[in-house]
Amino acid sequence: NKQLLLKNYAKGLPNESDFVVKTSTIKLEIPEGCDDAVLVKNIHLSCDPYLSLFMKGGHFSFIPGSVRLQPIVGYGVSKVIDSTHPSFNKGDIVWGITIWEEYSLIKSPRSFYKIQDTDVPLSYYTGILGMPGMTAYAGFYEICSPKEGETVFISAAAGAVGQIVGQFAKLMGCYVVGSAGSKDKVDLLKNKLGFDDAFNYKEEHDLNSALKRYFPNGIDIYFENVGGKMLDAVLLNMRLNGRISVCGMISQYNNDNVEGVKNLFCLATKQICMKGFANSFYYHLYPKYLEMVLPLIREGKITYIEDIAEGLENGPSALGELFAGHNIGKKIVTVSS
Ligand code: NDP
Repeated sequence: NKQLLLKNYAKGLPNESDFVVKTSTIKLEIPEGCDDAVLVKNIHLSCDPYLSLFMKGGHFSFIPGSVRLQPIVGYGVSKVIDSTHPSFNKGDIVWGITIWEEYSLIKSPRSFYKIQDTDVPLSYYTGILGMPGMTAYAGFYEICSPKEGETVFISAAAGAVGQIVGQFAKLMGCYVVGSAGSKDKVDLLKNKLGFDDAFNYKEEHDLNSALKRYFPNGIDIYFENVGGKMLDAVLLNMRLNGRISVCGMISQYNNDNVEGVKNLFCLATKQICMKGFANSFYYHLYPKYLEMVLPLIREGKITYIEDIAEGLENGPSALGELFAGHNIGKKIVTVSS
């Protein structure tokens, strides 16, 4: 059983050398007396920014922190090859929290969702039909209460979550601008994902004047993925009664010298509602989300960009690329077909 282990607790930005791929032997069976376990063959593993926090030994809600010399735990798509759990049967395809290895024994799975719709790529259940999709759905519709004609700005817009939020906002009839860290990503946003405009934040010396260029009358909704200097500049450009959905602040996760946000006071003067959220609190809406998004995918009204690495041995470089921002779209490691 090939596994991807955490070699070192990461200091600063985790990179390839913090991981090691090892092969271990396991019995491909559920131990005697274990009556709520599933044995799965992993198909796709999801590269997510929060993993960098866990690689420092932290933990969050139901996902445990990564432990040195233990395999990484995270979201994936898997096939059930044996089960003693009443809700899962041999042959089911599931998505949820699994382990970065070829085969995993999951005892008392609390976050597995059985996949019913298989006419779309299964890898989408690490992205638009999985956790990032639910994040975009809850963070945009539930937190931002968008209205037709409003102006929307999204940071890390070419990533797993941002690309969905932008397309939802366009379908709603909003004016949508995204920021991203390379020319290729900016081109993708403008030419393939239907954003009204996009800019490379790394080429802007003054983010405040860049935002004024794209939003001369201000921003109604900011979907926050990066934090730091971008949030500070956005606050100056928010309109009265604007809404900020605080989804993530990736610029702060691996930054040991975090710079403070200076413009938080704008929350008060402009009556901006800035609300944080975690996708895990919104799963009661998952059936409603699938009802909305599956027809959009099938009719080609929404595009989902993936950046796929093949084989568990390429797991370290895939995670390294994600943390360095080199992924274009949802980063996935495919382990089997
Ligand atoms: P992405 O697929 O967008 O990958 C991360 C991207 O972030 C990189 O490609 C890079 O793009 C950008 N980035 C990396 N470092 C920095 C930096 N220092 N400053 C600015 N941008 C940076 O990831 P996701 O779409 O999966 O996640 C987006 C955000 O949403 C993250 O903050 C994540 O933690 C959060 N999140 C929150 C959830 C919730 O429940 N609240 C659930 C899931 C994700 P670029 O080239 O544009 O810089």
